[in-house]
Amino acid sequence: MPIERCPLGAAMGRVIAETVVARASVPPWRSASMDGYAVRARDIATVPCTLHVVGESVAGSARPIEVTSGNAVRIMTGASVPEGADTVVRVEDTDEWTTDLANASGGDSASTPRAASTDAGRRSVQIRSSRDAGRNVRPLGEDFHAGDVLMTASDCITPAAIGVLASGGIATVATYRAPMVSIVSSGDELVRVENFAAVVNGEKIVSSNSYALPALVRDAGGVPRDGGITPDSPTALRNAINAAMACDLLITTGGVSVGERDYTRAVMRDLGADIKFWRARIRPGGPIAFGVVDGLPWIGLPGNPVSALVTFELFVRPAIRKMLGETLLFPARQVVTLDEHVSVSGDLTHYLRVVVTDRDGILHARLTGTQSSGALTSMLRANALLILPEGKRECEPGELLHAIPLSGSTPRSSVFPV
Ligand code: AMP
Ligand code: MG
Repeated sequence: MPIERCPLGAAMGRVIAETVVARASVPPWRSASMDGYAVRARDIATVPCTLHVVGESVAGSARPIEVTSGNAVRIMTGASVPEGADTVVRVEDTDEWTTDLANASGGDSASTPRAASTDAGRRSVQIRSSRDAGRNVRPLGEDFHAGDVLMTASDCITPAAIGVLASGGIATVATYRAPMVSIVSSGDELVRVENFAAVVNGEKIVSSNSYALPALVRDAGGVPRDGGITPDSPTALRNAINAAMACDLLITTGGVSVGERDYTRAVMRDLGADIKFWRARIRPGGPIAFGVVDGLPWIGLPGNPVSALVTFELFVRPAIRKMLGETLLFPARQVVTLDEHVSVSGDLTHYLRVVVTDRDGILHARLTGTQSSGALTSMLRANALLILPEGKRECEPGELLHAIPLSGSTPRSSVFPV
């Protein structure tokens, strides 16, 4: 995909296409990591001890003060640690008071609460512990220095990356443009949900793929473009696909199997597509096709709603990730313990819809019910796909298998993770 500059606020999920260098150091000054008193470690070697409070250092307003021997500066977290200080004593280990100089005489000192301290008063602080000696000072550039490389091409823009880029002064980044993904649904029986009357009449079904696939495209970081619903006629399909080809990735759904009215492959061939493969040894989703037409990649998804969604995860999402510039395209597999007997038929790799739950930190998988590729509700309840590799037809409860999480459905728990 071509590279475009993208404001930070819109960069989430993209991949960086350049080397990004910090424009300033963070923190930009030696800064306190605690609220307390900036002092010299030497001065608090024996405790308790009393120091004069000669000023304050507040986060966000740098005023040059120096801490000399016997003195302390009241300091807030994130504020600049004054010259001369190498320690911030946490406030919990201190007691501050003000001596009213006007009334002080003959060595008697009147103590007033901290809140009553005035410019005329002399502030003192007692340090009760030396456990912070030499501590709680973050060096300038502890996080990174001006000129440091923060990110390089092909790094993913995560929420943390957005935070790092912002603090490093980067307001826009070069990223790979999000691919525009056209989706054409085909089938004589399909209508939009607005035409639900035809469904109630028993004539049509809603083209659920026309709704679920754009949502998946968006979720994967692409920009969906509605290529409409077309009847099972070569001419209509050809026109619809032609009109949808102004995009970066063409997705069709339906008509890619061996039915008499499955015209998608023939139409793609007519349009000049080089069909790279048709059919995969998987269930659901076996009839999937892939080709290239005029340089445009095309993925022909089966029409069955579950097949369409599962093959999206296995083929389309990785394709979109690749177009976005990602290098790791596939979901990592997680080990799950099977909770029930499962049997399948056919020498194929099966992707079964399961609910994965956390029980004492061990992931357990249970089928979501019927595994019919027409039963989209099996996908609704699933948060993962259980992989039964080719040749594995029977599985017993307690067996360890692999699963891939479905996007947006990380297994959840009602227990706070400690
Ligand atoms: P096909 O892949 O065209 O043979 O369709 C297989 C099954 O999926 C049939 O039962 C279709 O009615 C159904 N189907 C096809 N396209 C869609 C779609 N866009 N939305 C929902 N179901 C579909
Ligand atoms: Mg069809």
